[in-house]
Amino acid sequence: MPQIALRQTVRERLASGWLFPAPHKVWAGKGTGHVCVVCGTTITPSEVENEVDGPVTVWTHLPCYSIWREESKPYDGADGTDRIDLGDLRQIVRLRFANGTLPVLPHDESWTGRGVSDLCGVCSSPIFAAESSQEVIGAPRVHTHLVCYRAWLLESIASRQVDERPSAEPHADDS
Ligand SMILES: [Zn+2]
Ligand SMILES: [Zn+2]
Repeated sequence: MPQIALRQTVRERLASGWLFPAPHKVWAGKGTGHVCVVCGTTITPSEVENEVDGPVTVWTHLPCYSIWREESKPYDGADGTDRIDLGDLRQIVRLRFANGTLPVLPHDESWTGRGVSDLCGVCSSPIFAAESSQEVIGAPRVHTHLVCYRAWLLESIASRQVDERPSAEPHADDS
C-alpha cells in the first residue's frame, strides 16, 4: 500500500476508534510472522517488528508504526492515557476513594469484553472500540479500561485490608 493511502487509513481508523492512539513505548525485534495491524500484511523475519503494548498487544512494521505514531499525535494530551501508567492510575483511584467519587470494589467479579463506546469509570477518558474493556458487575454498571480496572482492583484490595476491623458487626443494617 502506498504511504499516502496507508496514512489516510490510519487516520480514519484512529478517528473511528478502530485503532487506539499509538503509545510511545514499543518493543522492537525481528519479525516473527505476526500480521501488521496497520497495513495488514505479515511481518517477515527480515523486517523489524514492533510489539505495541496498548490496551491490547498488536504488532506493526517499523515504518507502519512511524506513520501510526505520527497520526496519533493529535490524540496526545487529549486524554492523557498515553502517559499514565499503573502507578499513576492507582494514585487517581486512591484520590477518588478519598473524595468519594469512586466506590471500593466489593469483589473482583467483572467481564472482559470488546471496547464499548463509553467513558472509563476510573480515568474518565473514552474507551476505544478496538480496546478490551472491563465491565464491573454490580450496580451501577461501570466500564473501565483493563489497566484502570487493575489499578482499581489493587487499590480496593489494599483498602479492604485496611478497613477490616476484628469487631465488625455481622449486621450492618441500622434500620
Ligand atoms: Zn505494516
Ligand atoms: Zn481508564
